[in-house]
Amino acid sequence: MKTVLPGSTIGVLGSGQLGRMFAIAARRMGYRVHTYSPDRDSPTGQVADVEVDAPYEDLDRVRDFASAVDVVTFEFENVPAATAETAARYALVRPAGDVLHTTQHRLREKTFLRQHGFPVTRFEAIRSEEDLRGAVPGFGPAILKTAGFGYDGKGQYRVSSLPEAEAAWQKMERQEAVLEAVVDFEAELSVVGVRSHTGACAFFAPSANEHVNGILDVSVAPSPFSTEVTQEATAITRGLLEQLNVTGVLCVEFFLTRDSRLLINELAPRPHNSGHLTIDACVTSQFEQQLRAVCGLPLGSTEMLRPAAMANLLGDMWGVREPDWASTLALPDVKLHLYGKTEPRPGRKMGHLTATAASPFGAAKLVRTARACLLG
Ligand code: AMP
Repeated sequence: MKTVLPGSTIGVLGSGQLGRMFAIAARRMGYRVHTYSPDRDSPTGQVADVEVDAPYEDLDRVRDFASAVDVVTFEFENVPAATAETAARYALVRPAGDVLHTTQHRLREKTFLRQHGFPVTRFEAIRSEEDLRGAVPGFGPAILKTAGFGYDGKGQYRVSSLPEAEAAWQKMERQEAVLEAVVDFEAELSVVGVRSHTGACAFFAPSANEHVNGILDVSVAPSPFSTEVTQEATAITRGLLEQLNVTGVLCVEFFLTRDSRLLINELAPRPHNSGHLTIDACVTSQFEQQLRAVCGLPLGSTEMLRPAAMANLLGDMWGVREPDWASTLALPDVKLHLYGKTEPRPGRKMGHLTATAASPFGAAKLVRTARACLLG
């Protein structure tokens, strides 16, 4: 693979906060960044050299976009397959489009995991009333999830009887879905790993993650799990980077069951919300690792300089007045990251805080205090 050196131009498909933090890392290292999405004045566009706003389906614009850059990556895995294929005709695309294809669809992803022997939550494909009638009675408490375009718990319904499942499926407009057993987990954790085109891999310390209403709320690293759990989660992440032949970052989200088994919940073939704390806490951030991998450069060190915790700032916090930034910033070990979004809608990720401390517990406590300060 050719090396894409500083001074070159990187194209990012998608324009949200992940693209923004990637673009900041890339510009710091002297790259130019172009972003492509249907939006204008986007979080990525605000810090990129060029913002193209056009539909993903406009393949002529995608061709022009790809022709103007040295390598294309993405920050949003629901980019249509035809968009990634078109980009690949005119530029190097990292990671390759088939990684997107597998991971942008829950059913394909879970089927891939099961077929390759990775530990995954019990599930059934739902494509018809018959599938639903056949699957629900054998499940007990379950979650019905849309197979495509799901994130942050969107398009998910908890169901414990056939009538409930039928009503939920109606609400999903009878789209292809996955019925999944509810896991009575002890904790959730994730591992962010990265693989270069030569096959070299690096892994960040696992984060312990807490979700509220299906959305990540707080991540803490290093996580308090046993060495065995950490080693197994890291080994599974390595196996997935290799099986999927990823060049770039992959995040694997796990449930840790009460009997200490790891089950994979979800894969993200890109930097992930639970890895944001690497910006302030590690020698190399997950965004810089993505940059290094897609450009064919050696990977950086993932060493953690200090234990850290990250708390998301959702639009709900804006309420009647602007959050009290000065009170939070009076805490010297707290860092503020805002994504440049002007409309603070409920549930919308507007930014995050990272706190570092002498221990993971101290960082978790500090980040929650810092977030509470924002409310005055
Ligand atoms: P997802 O969008 O599928 O990652 O789901 C978001 C969050 O919902 C997860 O991080 C869990 O907190 C919860 N969740 C999703 N699937 C399950 C499950 N099968 N059992 C228990 N909790 C789940």
